[in-house]
Amino acid sequence: MVSGVYGGVADRLSLKSCFPIMREMEDEYGSLFKAMISKAKQAKAKKKKSGSPSGPGGWLTSFKGGLYTVIEQFQKNYQDDIACKMIAKNIVKKDDTYTVTFENGDVISCKNIILATPTYKAADLVAELSTDLAHTFNSIPYAPISVVCLGYKKDDIKHKLDGFGFLVPKKENLKILGSIWTSSIFANRAPDGMVQFRTMIGGDGDHESINLSDKELVRAIEHDLDSIVGINGKPELVKIYRWARGIPQFKIGHSDIMDKLESELSKQGNLFISGNAYYGISLNDCIKQSHKVAELITQ
Ligand SMILES: Cc1cc2nc3c(=O)[nH]c(=O)nc-3n(C[C@H](O)[C@H](O)[C@H](O)COP(=O)(O)OP(=O)(O)OC[C@H]3O[C@@H](n4cnc5c(N)ncnc54)[C@H](O)[C@@H]3O)c2cc1C
Repeated sequence: MVSGVYGGVADRLSLKSCFPIMREMEDEYGSLFKAMISKAKQAKAKKKKSGSPSGPGGWLTSFKGGLYTVIEQFQKNYQDDIACKMIAKNIVKKDDTYTVTFENGDVISCKNIILATPTYKAADLVAELSTDLAHTFNSIPYAPISVVCLGYKKDDIKHKLDGFGFLVPKKENLKILGSIWTSSIFANRAPDGMVQFRTMIGGDGDHESINLSDKELVRAIEHDLDSIVGINGKPELVKIYRWARGIPQFKIGHSDIMDKLESELSKQGNLFISGNAYYGISLNDCIKQSHKVAELITQ
């Protein structure tokens, strides 16, 4: 779960920040096993299925055209209020008004700002407002991750691919973190007779893979995938996405960083944060946090 969700190394991460439900269960019941036994008993008494400590089980969801559909629709619905392809360069404040300067020279003034960029970009943006705030943003580390999509003829794969894919426990000594069988989960992700694998490689335990050439990356993934699903042919589709600072790491002490960040932000006033580096990494967490911030601003 840790490598699959966070691209992280378990003993470097903060349980409280990454899997708060597990921490709460441990605090309440004394240990995770006791918690799970208790929860199972309670669920049995209520004739319900009990959830897992890592969160509720569920179905992987997307759109026919992929998650980008959300962004496209958002752009369409709010086109009068959104300026696209504008790169913010810096933020300054005079009295109660913020001024944001963009790379194309445009300038806007506003009362509230929500910083929803990755933290290392937020740090650059606020550098003139407060070096302490910029420093705190920069203290949240990121792990690199590469996502490699490979498409094969169905007949070239021995495995039936009747599942969502797999995550790789560290002890298996494979290079890949896991692979999602995209064409098994979602309709229309591969033409008839073809299958698609979306494989993740890198993470906080492997800062080197991001520097592999395309050829080396594909070779490493083919090797690991072959050992699990059995591959006879060559991929007919190869797409590689490298994210040098891909996944924020909620390391031990993350909640202290957050306390500091919130305190720095409150000194600024009307400057807010949203995004995956703070209170939860998943898209769902980001949406929840956005609602909270929107409420704070409209209060
Ligand atoms: C490889 C990978 C796979 C993932 N898979 C899943 C998954 O399956 N499910 C899930 O729930 N989560 C997944 N995640 C987690 C992911 O963190 C969240 O889903 C979510 O996309 C993060 O949203 P965000 O808005 O915080 O960041 P982003 O989506 O990165 O948005 C930040 C935005 O800030 C913009 N920006 C940066 N600098 C500037 C600037 N100077 N001016 C203006 N704009 C700027 C960028 O262009 C970008 O659009 C995955 C993450 C990675 C890296």
